[in-house]
Amino acid sequence: MSEQSSGEVYYECVRCGTTISSTELSKLLEIKCICGYRILKKKRPSVVKIIKAT
Ligand SMILES: [Zn+2]
Repeated sequence: MSEQSSGEVYYECVRCGTTISSTELSKLLEIKCICGYRILKKKRPSVVKIIKAT
């Protein structure tokens, strides 16, 4: 059972706007952007819910 497909969280660097996934962040030794900035804001995952209205 892999839990990589769900629960992915994305972060956006407040300085350069680069989006980094939690998977990519987990590979890093410390939480920071590729530009070196350490302040990342959490982005809402782009989950598309399909609701039948009929
Ligand atoms: Zn950055």
